[in-house]
Amino acid sequence: MADQHGQKTALPAITPATTLEYREIIDGVIQDVQSVAKRRADGVRADTSMIDIGLDSLEWMDVISRIESRFRVRLPETLIDEIETSRELADAVSGLLARKPNETASQAVPEEDYIFEKSPEYLRLQAEFSKIEAAGEENPFFCEHAGISNHQTRIDGRTYINFSGNNYLGMSGDPVVTAASVAAVEAFGTSVSASRIVSGTRPIHRELESAICDFLGVPECITFTAGHTTNAVVLGHLFGPDDLILHDELVHNSIVFGCKVSGAERRSFPHNDWEAASDYLREMRDQYRKVVVVIEGLYSMDGDYPDLTRFVEVKDRHHAWLYVDEAHSIGTMGATGRGLAEMFGVPRDAVEIWMGTLSKALGACGGFVAARESIIRYLKYTCPGVVFTIGLSPASCGAATAAIRLIKDDNRRIRQLHENAAYFLEQARGAGFNTGDSAGSPIVPVILGDSLRSLRASRQMHEEGVSVQPIMYPAVPNELARLRFFVNSRHTREQLDQTVAALQKVLPN
Ligand code: PMP
Repeated sequence: MADQHGQKTALPAITPATTLEYREIIDGVIQDVQSVAKRRADGVRADTSMIDIGLDSLEWMDVISRIESRFRVRLPETLIDEIETSRELADAVSGLLARKPNETASQAVPEEDYIFEKSPEYLRLQAEFSKIEAAGEENPFFCEHAGISNHQTRIDGRTYINFSGNNYLGMSGDPVVTAASVAAVEAFGTSVSASRIVSGTRPIHRELESAICDFLGVPECITFTAGHTTNAVVLGHLFGPDDLILHDELVHNSIVFGCKVSGAERRSFPHNDWEAASDYLREMRDQYRKVVVVIEGLYSMDGDYPDLTRFVEVKDRHHAWLYVDEAHSIGTMGATGRGLAEMFGVPRDAVEIWMGTLSKALGACGGFVAARESIIRYLKYTCPGVVFTIGLSPASCGAATAAIRLIKDDNRRIRQLHENAAYFLEQARGAGFNTGDSAGSPIVPVILGDSLRSLRASRQMHEEGVSVQPIMYPAVPNELARLRFFVNSRHTREQLDQTVAALQKVLPN
C-alpha cells in the first residue's frame, strides 16, 4: 500500500485466527451483535439473550454471517439453532477455531475468501441441496413451465392444474392484453433505450401512470422496471442513517433489502400487530428524523392482511409515514380490485406511499409507487432506480395499461377470483387442512410443519396433476413449512375439487 508520497506504508498486522484470545472473540461477537441491533444493543453483555434484544430471524442470520466472515469459520445450523447469547456464540466460535489447522502469516488469506466454492455462503446452499438429495427428492426449483402460467400450466408435455403462479386474473395471456403489448412493441420497440430522465420517456409511460393514478385515485405515480427494485430503491433512497424503518416481521425480501440499502435503523414488529408497532413508536419516535411503518396489503406466505385503519391511526399519532406494499392486493382485494384502501374505506391520502407490482394481477412486469405530487417529483428527479436505469419496457407498459382498463371496465374476474378463493379455502379447511390465517384472499397455505414433508407433498401433488410450490425453511420456520396455493379467477369448481381430493390422497389424516 502506498501513501500520498508514493512511499510504502506498513499494512496492519493480520492476527492468525487461532491465536485469538477468548476475550477478543467475545468482544468481536458483541461488536457484531451491536452492529446489527444498533440502539437495542446499548448495554448488551455476554449473557444477554438475543431474544431479549429483540433480534428477528433475518437479523440473527446477519449476525451469524458477520461472525463467520470475521472469524473465518462456518457455524453448523444445528449449533445456530441452539445459541441464545453472545457468550454461547463465542464458545462455538472458539471451539471451531481450536479445531482449525494453524495458519502461518503467509497463509493469512484462507481459501474460502478467494475460492468461491469454499465460501460459507456457497457451502450453506450446497447443504440445502444435500438435504433434498438425502431425502430422495428432486430439486423443485427452476422447474420449466411451457407456455402461459394461468389456471393451468404445461410441464414436460403434461397439463397441470396450476397454483404456483400469480396470474390471479388471467391477464397474462389474455388476448386484449397481448394485443396491447404487441402494439406497444411495434410502436416503440423492444426497449426505450435510455433512462426516463434522458430520452427514455414514451407516451405509454404516462398512459400507464395515469391509468394507475386514475384506478387508485392517487395524484401521482412513477413506474420502475421490477417490483423488487421498486422497494429496494425507493426505501433505500427515501430513508437514511438518521431514520427508522419499522416493518412487519413477515414483509417481503425486497423491503428488507431496501432497509439495508438505506442504512436506516430497521426494526420489525410481530405480524399484523399494530399495537406492538405503536409501542415501538411511543418508545423510539423521538430518536429519529423520519420514521416509516412498512406493511403489505396481502401477505404472500399466509394470505392474510393488516388492519389498515389501525395502522393509519398509529402512524398519524406518532408522526410517522405509512408505506403499503400492494404487490398481491392490487387487483385481488376489495370489491373492484383497488386493494386495501377500498376494503377498509381508508382515504388514499391517509397513506404516504402506495407501492405495487405490475407482475401479478396486472399480467406484466415492473413496479410502481403512487403518492402525492411532491414525493413522486422527488423520486422522478433523484431516485437512482429512475434516474440511472432504463425506462419500463413498452411490452410491460402496453400490457399493464390494458389490464387496468379491463379491470376497471368489468369486475367479473375479480368476483370470480373471490368466489374461487372462498370456495377453495372452505373446501381445504373442511377437509381438515391447516390453512393458517388465510381469510378472504386468493392465497391459501396448507401448513404441514416440516420442510421435507412439504417438498414430498409438492412432488406427490405434481404426480396427481397439480402444480403447487413447497415453502420451506429458511423462507418460513421449519415448523411452518407448507404448500402454498395461489388461486386463479379461471380455476373451475372441478379443478378446485380435484385439488382438494388430491391433497386428501397425498396427505391422509
Ligand atoms: N413485494 C411483494 C410483497 C412481493 O411478494 C413481491 C414478489 N413476490 C415483490 C414485492 C417483488 O415484485 P416483482 O416480482 O414484481 O419484482
